[in-house]
Amino acid sequence: MSRILTLLLAFGALGLVGCPAAKPAKPNVLWIVVDTLRADRLGSERGLTPYMDRLGQKGVVFENAFSQAPWTLPSIASMMTSLYPKEHGAGGRLGAFQSVHEGIVTAPSVFQRAGYTTHAIVNVEFLKQKYGVTRDFQEVDVAAFENNVELRNAEKTTDAALAYMAQQSPDKPFFLLLHYFDVHAVYDPPQPFRSRYAAPPDRESGPGRTLFGTREEMMALRAGKLELSREWIARAAKLYDGEVAYTDAEIGRLMDRLGGMGLLDNTLIVLCADHGEEFLDHGGFEHGHTVYDELIHVPLMLVGPGAQAGLRVPQTVRMIDVLPTLCQWADVAGERQFAGKSLMPFLEGKGGESRRALAHGNMWGPPHTALRDGGWKLIESGDGSQQLFHVAEDAREQKNLATQDTQRLEDLRQELSTIESAMSVLGKGKDVQLTPEELESLKASGYGGGE
Ligand SMILES: [Zn+2]
Repeated sequence: MSRILTLLLAFGALGLVGCPAAKPAKPNVLWIVVDTLRADRLGSERGLTPYMDRLGQKGVVFENAFSQAPWTLPSIASMMTSLYPKEHGAGGRLGAFQSVHEGIVTAPSVFQRAGYTTHAIVNVEFLKQKYGVTRDFQEVDVAAFENNVELRNAEKTTDAALAYMAQQSPDKPFFLLLHYFDVHAVYDPPQPFRSRYAAPPDRESGPGRTLFGTREEMMALRAGKLELSREWIARAAKLYDGEVAYTDAEIGRLMDRLGGMGLLDNTLIVLCADHGEEFLDHGGFEHGHTVYDELIHVPLMLVGPGAQAGLRVPQTVRMIDVLPTLCQWADVAGERQFAGKSLMPFLEGKGGESRRALAHGNMWGPPHTALRDGGWKLIESGDGSQQLFHVAEDAREQKNLATQDTQRLEDLRQELSTIESAMSVLGKGKDVQLTPEELESLKASGYGGGE
């Protein structure tokens, strides 16, 4: 036998011959965050999200996933660190924002250490590196807005993601955080979605197109000077739905192309939201101000090799559970700091217990903390008041049972106090220094009202 043949046989035995394109040893990770997408907008009942629903059928849909904060910065920081806002330190209010605490490890560091290339495509001020959430990515492609009207839309965001993925070498897995901002106010869906979900006449009538969630409206709203009529909110919600459908179509295009690039077989896909949106569910509008479910119940689906197709999980899970799941799924070493727990047993169809879920860290209004456990939910507010809801039966949180079931209230308060005292609190994150231009930009986006 010739030496060359011997060598070829030896390589063949090692799987090095006859392998057309070397696949990365580890799967890629594509983590999609659709900003402000309410959990109840998905599904066939409303018919707004056929592409996301189809994606969900290829993997596992978590019907009761809860974010750890009702607005972008602390919520996505919780996802990227598997910690509660009080632990990672990111949050705050306008002019006094805090970044993720410096001593904390974030998801891209964990994956870079395991040989991944890391990249973030994000569309909001709070995901700039200075806020800490994306500081450890090798590259951050951020299109922060001058105001919420001019944003990098879903089409351009999808294009950026496709361009990035097309450039990646098959020898090195990637970890891509992909953030869509269209569903966030201002709601201004492009055609044909605008016509499909909200009748167009008001766009043509009057001095300009009708927008909802403009700076002026947000300022007036937070100052209590904007009347939120049912008609106004109904109209806003329809335009919001148009944005949801538009973003869905772009995610559909992304998935189609991903399949065409041969990436679907070797990519772990997370699709989720950072928080929801209120349309008078509890008398308010927008997000960041309460911890009711319209703001913290978020869509979550995990799709990829090993996740059982078509599975729906009714148990309560938390967004801090996603990062530990990805680590286990991709066989990447996790961090001791993780407060969440892997969801792999659910992905493999083994089931598991509901997890108690905590949320806090609102951006405006009095502070609130929510604890959900065993079909019940406690809300403690900064003014000393408490609410108790039997969410297993009262999903819309309409009937406050705090004065009727005082024992349960007290038990949940004790439980919350125990959880909070066990948190490894490092204190507030570092103050984020804003330039006057950035401050103006945030104010112009409606983040200045009511302060
Ligand atoms: Zn957000």
